[in-house]
Amino acid sequence: MAIRHDQGIVLRGYPFGEADRVVVLLSPNNGKLRTVAKGVRKTKSRFGGRLEPFSHVDLVLYEGRNLDTITQVTMIEPFHHLRGDLDKVVAAGTMVEVADAVAQEEESSIRLFLLLQRGLRTLDLGGLHPDLVTAYLLKAADIVGVAAQLDQCAGCGRPDELTRFSFSAGGVLCERCRTAGAYALRPGLTHYLAQLAGSDLGALPNVDDSFSREAMGVARRFVEYHLERKLQSLAVLDG
Ligand SMILES: [Zn+2]
Repeated sequence: MAIRHDQGIVLRGYPFGEADRVVVLLSPNNGKLRTVAKGVRKTKSRFGGRLEPFSHVDLVLYEGRNLDTITQVTMIEPFHHLRGDLDKVVAAGTMVEVADAVAQEEESSIRLFLLLQRGLRTLDLGGLHPDLVTAYLLKAADIVGVAAQLDQCAGCGRPDELTRFSFSAGGVLCERCRTAGAYALRPGLTHYLAQLAGSDLGALPNVDDSFSREAMGVARRFVEYHLERKLQSLAVLDG
């Protein structure tokens, strides 16, 4: 048993035993981290709300056999501003949900951590760009090794007439390679998606309202296809 330091962004928490709470974080060096905050359900003030989702915190942990116990929490970045805006909270919730779904325990996750941090910071500091979550989804897929192929046909490699998107083929298809279930893309949408996938989250291209909604639909279904489940945080927008 020993004391160790770590840091991470809080992904979620859930009740544990009578009075404790499990707090799940994404650590840049150690991936998904499951920790216990003891007694927080009786005395909520102990960690002063620092273990709420989205908070980037520094931790002192007491190593346990199964779960490490949090003994100290220091706030690194609270992302205060985004919490006051429901649309931003939904966007941040989607980012956190995807990170939670793809992160592994005890595995370096620096790229995923930096993507999540960048996404939350962009939400916190500015307006909500309608394509931010779409770009985040495409980038997260890339980081976990299932990047959507957007600049050439996923079937034959040709770079033009990319008019279909196949979730099972992992990207766009040309007319010759199109399969029965492939989704028809409007002209220009392929390029729009490729631009989003290639842009920094804090410097996304100008919004094209005619593409935004459809681009989100494609990116979301693509990620859901690979995760083999629906994204709960986006389901609230469907209702
Ligand atoms: Zn083709």
